Amino acid sequence: MMNTLKRINPRRPFTVTAQGLRRITLGVVGIAGADGGALADARHAAHLEQPKPRRTTLTPHHVLLVAAHTDRGALDEHARQTLAAAALIADAHTEVVLLAFGEFTGDAAALGADKLIELPIFDRRMYAPADELNALAACIAAYSPAHVFLPDNATGDGDLGRRYAAAVDASVATHIVEIDAGHVSTYIRANTAYARRALPEVVLLEPNAVDPKLPFVGAGERVAWRVDREADSAVAQPAIRDLGIDEIDAAQVALEEADFIVSAGNGVSDVPAFERLATTLGAAIGASRVAVDDGKFTRDKQIGATGKTVEASVYIAFGISGAVQHLQGIKDCRHVIAVNLDASAPIAKRANLTVIADAQETIAALNEAAAAARGARATSAALLQPGKLAEGVLA
Ligand SMILES: Cc1cc2nc3c(=O)[nH]c(=O)nc-3n(C[C@H](O)[C@H](O)[C@H](O)COP(=O)(O)OP(=O)(O)OC[C@H]3O[C@@H](n4cnc5c(N)ncnc54)[C@H](O)[C@@H]3O)c2cc1C
Repeated sequence: MMNTLKRINPRRPFTVTAQGLRRITLGVVGIAGADGGALADARHAAHLEQPKPRRTTLTPHHVLLVAAHTDRGALDEHARQTLAAAALIADAHTEVVLLAFGEFTGDAAALGADKLIELPIFDRRMYAPADELNALAACIAAYSPAHVFLPDNATGDGDLGRRYAAAVDASVATHIVEIDAGHVSTYIRANTAYARRALPEVVLLEPNAVDPKLPFVGAGERVAWRVDREADSAVAQPAIRDLGIDEIDAAQVALEEADFIVSAGNGVSDVPAFERLATTLGAAIGASRVAVDDGKFTRDKQIGATGKTVEASVYIAFGISGAVQHLQGIKDCRHVIAVNLDASAPIAKRANLTVIADAQETIAALNEAAAAARGARATSAALLQPGKLAEGVLA
């Protein structure tokens, strides 16, 4: 019998409501289901190229503040979700201000911010919770936001939000998994119950509570801001001395905690060269199951469904096909780079950048480039030593 059931096109156009809910746009014909073929492709391309509208152009009366640390000039996925949450629940008279702790070189408007305050002085490598708290308090005093949003992470933002709430006795909700314009929700009693309350002053969001892809952009206006440590110290006096960061060998870092991983698969035959590259780049070593089964690496290096799940900012996969079990282990990695002879390998679909090349040749070229860079650095350092400069210039 012929199947006469009508299928709903999952790619039908949708809008995101003020409550952050996805609503199918009724009465609009879905592109994929309309007429298929080249026409649909052309319309799809045109749709993609359309600039997104500004969220609001009305006079702002209220502010939602989002505070988050940056990492090498960018907000991570969790921070972008937190910013999107504020942008989605902001009404037409509310502007969203992003307070970035650390250098920010991204596109604040595209992430939904109407104003950007960048505090490059607060580098992630520095531990200054009291100064950060004072800077946050100064910004809140200046803007009087209705609510303050931070990612509930263990890398500074979660701590900062709690410190602020405790310092000024603000209402706070932590580990938030659901949010709309009026409420926040979280799991309680070891995830056996669900608690809901009105939006408090400080909201700390769990990862993946909100989709960071917005149907609009913010104004993205950069605001000049000076951190005056003396004047800003109304809330907390520093009681912590930062002794700096102790760098440890990347090989000593647990794979789950590594920020930079180079990983080898069946396509890597020169293991010593690969290990040399990992040392040179200061990256942790991972491997596919086939490479581990072959005895090239120990079992604790295996990444994937039956190995480790990693969250590196950069994951370079040399000679790894990208089987579904392997991809499961790298789903939370930020930038994936694949080096593979086969452009159609599944890893290429997951990778942000794919280099179609031989793994051994690429590893050798990278090792050579690193040695050359090291050599150049050593030469310029020697030239800058007192007495050596004249010698170098005269030679
Ligand atoms: C229950 C179960 C659990 C599993 N768990 C895991 C897991 O946790 N982790 C995991 O990784 N796998 C796991 N696997 C295995 C997985 O299905 C794949 O077999 C495995 O990931 C393949 O490893 P690979 O990509 O290194 O090797 P291959 O599949 O052999 O792929 C090698 C890749 O290297 C490329 N290549 C070859 N030569 C070169 C060269 N000279 N230069 C550049 N590229 C080259 C090829 O084009 C190919 O894409 C599991 C399987 C099962 C059934």
